[in-house]
Amino acid sequence: MDRADVLVVGGGVMGAAVAARLSQTTARVLLVEEQDDLAEGASKANAGIATSFYGRPGTLEARLIAESNPRWEDLCGRLDVPYRRIGAVMLAVGPREAAGLPAVYEAIVAHGARAELVTAEQARDLEPLITGDCAGGISLPDEGIIDPMRLTVAYAELAARNGATIERSRRVTGFSVADGEVNEAETTGGPVRVTFVVNAAGLFADEVSRMAGGESFRMWPRQGQYWILDRAFGSRLRRLVYPIPMEHTRGAQVVPTTNGSVLLGPSAADTELRLDKATDLATLRWLLEQTRKLVPDVSDAYAIKTYAGNRPAGDEIFRARFDHNIRNLIHVGSRSAGVSVSPALGDHVLGLLRDAGLAAIDRAEAGDAIPTVPRLLNAADPEELPSLDPRYRHVVCACEQVTAVEISAALESRVPATSIDGVRKRTRATGGRCQGSVCMVGVAFLVSQHTGQPPECIRHGGFGGTLGVGHADY
Ligand SMILES: Cc1cc2nc3c(=O)[nH]c(=O)nc-3n(C[C@H](O)[C@H](O)[C@H](O)COP(=O)(O)OP(=O)(O)OC[C@H]3O[C@@H](n4cnc5c(N)ncnc54)[C@H](O)[C@@H]3O)c2cc1C
Repeated sequence: MDRADVLVVGGGVMGAAVAARLSQTTARVLLVEEQDDLAEGASKANAGIATSFYGRPGTLEARLIAESNPRWEDLCGRLDVPYRRIGAVMLAVGPREAAGLPAVYEAIVAHGARAELVTAEQARDLEPLITGDCAGGISLPDEGIIDPMRLTVAYAELAARNGATIERSRRVTGFSVADGEVNEAETTGGPVRVTFVVNAAGLFADEVSRMAGGESFRMWPRQGQYWILDRAFGSRLRRLVYPIPMEHTRGAQVVPTTNGSVLLGPSAADTELRLDKATDLATLRWLLEQTRKLVPDVSDAYAIKTYAGNRPAGDEIFRARFDHNIRNLIHVGSRSAGVSVSPALGDHVLGLLRDAGLAAIDRAEAGDAIPTVPRLLNAADPEELPSLDPRYRHVVCACEQVTAVEISAALESRVPATSIDGVRKRTRATGGRCQGSVCMVGVAFLVSQHTGQPPECIRHGGFGGTLGVGHADY
């Protein structure tokens, strides 16, 4: 039977971040993810904003965001993850919003985040594309953008390199509990003897808690839809552009991504179907209207894709604490800021575990970095790359300029891609303007070469795991 000092349930950004930190200690770590790849839940659907403030000041979530924010450059350098601290400008459109700016500013600085009230002219200096109706704004220099899928995969890769076991296509289906403690987890890959369990199951955290005899809480999807606009527009935009936040949402934003495209969104609608990721025209039109108020040049003429993701909403919007009933069960989850808390989350969870008696001693020889793969896109000197490896001449995905070298690295890592979508998450191949219509066959061919499966059997990705099967009431 498998044994784990800590069993992490869920391979989204939060579970992977926890596994990465624990892997640097003497604790034996097993992460199980029911889907056939990491980052299949909210962690692949988010905007990738590494924010400097969120929620109410003084909460654990706000504290972890504040602790995480200064770490991004160092962390992403070590984990080979694209990140840029581009800053944001929050706009007041019209005199009524301008009157409310000082209160919004006060709420932000209460987090300890850097912010500055700016005039409309100063706001335009920060981002020339903003609306002529801007009546003032707030500059937020510590807002950053990150590739959230690369980040999730990189946390897991670091964990694996440090000896943690990362198992995909393995679902937790139940627990044996005695005297207020879980002692065994039942999984689709057999039972696991456990000392502690970290429930990082996102939208399904309530189900995992229930199976373990833990607290009863409810999770539901808060759907967010996005447009993705082409790099032709993204190359003109310098910063994140935010509206004045509403009571329950930060509103529809204009979000540059680390690969040069731009996201317009998200919407925020509480729904019931956890697996429903359909977009609808009315919401997409609304997103265009809202974001045009901030940046009038926004246009669906640049659109390359639309999509929806489900935030793991719950009565408690953030959890990183022990269960109240089961002594060795920890819940971690965040509705809207899981990426932004992730650099500091592992330390927090490790602290909880040590306080509860886990002998997890930091190992001096443990790694804190994964190998860097030079990328053709944004390379300082692209001409030099073929001297490192001649396969840099083989551009497989022309839109995103991904070569055979980057794709091979994704297929040969410790937590390798096994599908076309897995390659996209790690390299961006098939994720550009043509959405794979030109390069998908080439990517499938390379996946086939590495996995030994015939090309026609290579899956695109998506619901290849067991998600949805066995989640009886969803
Ligand atoms: C539209 C949208 C925009 C967002 N924007 C941002 C943003 O800009 N910045 C930011 O910081 N955050 C943002 N967020 C929030 C962020 O995406 C989430 O907080 C974060 O992804 C949660 O990570 P997680 O690991 O807890 O959950 P998930 O990524 O959902 O991972 C949970 C995993 O658990 C697995 N699982 C479930 N049940 C089981 C089981 N029984 N056995 C094994 N595995 C199981 C699932 O398959 C899933 O992979 C956004 C979210 C959305 C949807």
